[in-house]
Amino acid sequence: MALVKCENLTKAFSTPNGEEIAVDGIDLTIDDNSFATILGPSGCGKTTLLRLIAGLETPTSGEIYYDSVRVTDKRPQDRNISMVFQQVALFPFYTIRENIQYGLKYVSDLSSAEQNEKVEEMAKILDIHELLDKKPGQLSGGQRQRAALGRALVREPDVFLLDEPMSDLDEKLKVAMRSELKKIHQQFPITKGYVTHDQEEALTLSDEIILMNDGKVVQQSSPGEIYQEPNNVFVAQFIGNHEINLIDGTPENGQISTPAFDIDVPEQLAQSIASEATDGVTLGIRPLDVQVVDDPSDALFTVTMQFFEHMGDSLLVHAETPSLSDIVRFTIPEVAEPMDGEQYHLTFELDDVFVFDQQSGE
Ligand code: ADP
Ligand code: MG
Repeated sequence: MALVKCENLTKAFSTPNGEEIAVDGIDLTIDDNSFATILGPSGCGKTTLLRLIAGLETPTSGEIYYDSVRVTDKRPQDRNISMVFQQVALFPFYTIRENIQYGLKYVSDLSSAEQNEKVEEMAKILDIHELLDKKPGQLSGGQRQRAALGRALVREPDVFLLDEPMSDLDEKLKVAMRSELKKIHQQFPITKGYVTHDQEEALTLSDEIILMNDGKVVQQSSPGEIYQEPNNVFVAQFIGNHEINLIDGTPENGQISTPAFDIDVPEQLAQSIASEATDGVTLGIRPLDVQVVDDPSDALFTVTMQFFEHMGDSLLVHAETPSLSDIVRFTIPEVAEPMDGEQYHLTFELDDVFVFDQQSGE
């Protein structure tokens, strides 16, 4: 078991078009025995960061430590890590037993009886014990994924790194495997670094989310905090099941004026807005925090429905109002299906509004 620490870690690749900085001066810590998710859009540097932590890439600059041991120059096989990738790479002509046993290949001093015992134990925990003498081709996708996890975990690594291991699974299996992974983390609370581009996966699985954009860490927080206190507009947009509403406004005399409505400046922000002499702000309001009211006099503004989407337990309504150039999104109960051109009177709590500086996005 180990804590993982990166200090000012940078990786630049030279490409025909010049230098590509995949990882740009990253500082981060993954606590011992915690489940950390490295989240971000495609191409932001997640895989490169994971491969640096694993020792599969050499950093251009910066340091990596496992606990207090500097591993920056150590080869992967000298780091006691295991990795699982998107494509499950089980050996097709080996049985599942032989595949899992392969995970012990570099672990010294185990008799074959001891090895077999470890394999059996792992297979029982992962519920693939009945399948040990089958070949990978005879297993379902989920079973194969569990066998791959078994092969990675059987050697009891200090650090377990996973790169989008579920992105090839269908949606239902993905959700099932998610609970499976949570259970596995309880049984094997080994330090985990888990790469995904799926914010829902990150929110449900992790102790900590490391959100990346363009080679940098934008925010490292618990799932609750990253949802409730996003550092900037990018984070607010990236986290959450429905696209957040962003409305530009101008702070003036303790109020923020937008083309559609005016609100009082939330108290905790009044000071920072005053001290930073902010010219323009962007309000972020999650669709789930927008409330529909019957009486127009209780509303901040009124919109007209454009279209709606079924979300399963609710409807996501897309609506417009002449004063705003962007669509406004909010949810209503599934039973309240709107009619063409239906009007809604909307309001929200000041506490639920994020206020970002328009220029910096922060
Ligand atoms: P992610 O996993 O978040 O999709 P990657 O770490 O794979 O992102 O890639 C980050 C950036 O680095 C991308 O622009 C990618 O093209 C570039 N990159 C990654 N690996 C290499 C490489 N071996 N050579 C050149 N460029 C690379
Ligand atoms: Mg990747």
